[in-house]
Amino acid sequence: MGNARMRNALFIDGHWVPPARGKTLPVIDPATANTIHSVPAGTTEDIDWAVDAARAAFDGGPWPRMTGAERGKYLRAISDAVLASKHELARLEVLDNGKPLPEAEWDIADAAGCFEFYAELAEDLAGTSSEQIGLPDARFSTRVVREPVGVVGAIIPWNYPLLMAAWKIAPALAAGCTVVLKPSELTSLTALELAAIADDVGLPPGVLNVVTGLGAEAGQPLCEHPHVDKLAFTGSLATGSKILLAAARDIKRVSLELGGKSPFLVFDDVDVEKAVEWILFGIFWNQGQVCSATSRVLIHEGIYDRLLSRLIDATNRIKIGSGLAAGTMLGPLVSASQLEKVLGAIRKARADGATVVAGGDRVEELAPGYFVRPTILVDVPVASDAWREEIFGPVVCVRSFKEEAEAVRLANDSRYGLAAAVMSADLERTERVAAALRAGVVWINCSQPTFVQAPWGGFKQSGIGRELGRWGLENYLEVKQITRHSSEQPWGWYLK
Ligand code: NAD
Repeated sequence: MGNARMRNALFIDGHWVPPARGKTLPVIDPATANTIHSVPAGTTEDIDWAVDAARAAFDGGPWPRMTGAERGKYLRAISDAVLASKHELARLEVLDNGKPLPEAEWDIADAAGCFEFYAELAEDLAGTSSEQIGLPDARFSTRVVREPVGVVGAIIPWNYPLLMAAWKIAPALAAGCTVVLKPSELTSLTALELAAIADDVGLPPGVLNVVTGLGAEAGQPLCEHPHVDKLAFTGSLATGSKILLAAARDIKRVSLELGGKSPFLVFDDVDVEKAVEWILFGIFWNQGQVCSATSRVLIHEGIYDRLLSRLIDATNRIKIGSGLAAGTMLGPLVSASQLEKVLGAIRKARADGATVVAGGDRVEELAPGYFVRPTILVDVPVASDAWREEIFGPVVCVRSFKEEAEAVRLANDSRYGLAAAVMSADLERTERVAAALRAGVVWINCSQPTFVQAPWGGFKQSGIGRELGRWGLENYLEVKQITRHSSEQPWGWYLK
């Protein structure tokens, strides 16, 4: 392996094919705004073919009929191949998404780890997929088995391109499902590369299909296709809502990983330097384009001034540049429209009364690259969009609190509930606050570390269901009871 490159065809039924309508999408390097390549813009016809291929591979192919251990071998081979191409894949990710290279390398290693983890769970399926249930009636016995849910339509965003693909494809394949993946139109390169890896390791045709294209032209037909059994989506709340509507028509299974406006509560007994580090990591990693970014920081009033001044200082020192340049800690945003969205959110925050104490503008000297300075907002009204809505960029709102209960109330006052963080030297307090926070992920004395073994997903409007860990596998399994009547006695209802 080690030959990752830019591809320009769709991967359907084991073949590399041009899109039916011959349309393409530009691949734009966000650090320079240059178009560096193009990928196919798939449409309904391509989705139809891909779903037919996935359907045939599920209904009649070997994949769902293999043992979990056999499928695990393929997943391990994919993991190995991803690792073998780690540097090339990371480079593609930087060119497509803009993130600093060391972050991209971390993502690729995590993606390989995800395939490895679900290889293990696939191997364990034999031991856990059939369970005898105790019944109060000796004439019957019931066993419960878990079976793959069928054809999966997976739709992913652009912030962690290969990793988001892995979070869906690895558990879906482990379960025995077949997949049509529609990556983000902004970052398709590594998804196509993953298809090439699947091809190389000999995954049977139709088990994994990758159709690049726009949300409306490729994503929507995938969601509406009657032969798709389950939709697995990661992206914005607005699109998640459309997906749920599309799924409602024929009762598709759905898992949704949506946005967040996650709070970070910092108490006055913390080590200020450690707090600075985790606050910065919580919001500026991946240019703040992180669903779980802790974008609302609540600081205990006793350390507010000291911590804020250290935060401003450290933020102003963050090295901004191309993701490929050595030492870069903050790269460009993913696209021109994301740049406009983030700058617009900062303008609106100012108009609503917030004060910018760091950053707040585009990095003009790096234009036309899509760079925004890491930004800290204070005096942000709690009713304003900056406090309530996801900005999905390097912008953090900071405010002070007096009492623990007030901090928890402010933290929970959101329609989102993906993640939250709390920092304090008081163990009991961190446990009490963790219990009170309404979020699917709570970090204590840190923010963002994510492990494939642990469940990931949100409360409230941050989503439905959980990915990762054993919960991620359950997403792709149906539960079936098989009940046997084994009494010699007649049932005796009609025929007395
Ligand atoms: P988005 O919703 O715009 O797009 C996500 C995907 O949906 C893309 O592939 C897009 O082409 C597709 N899509 C768009 N319209 C569609 C439609 N009508 N039907 C079917 N598919 C459609 O989101 P984005 O801008 O790519 O990503 C950013 C969002 O993703 C943020 O809100 C972020 O919080 C969220 N996110 C969540 C998680 C999580 O785990 N909770 C992780 C990463 C990102």
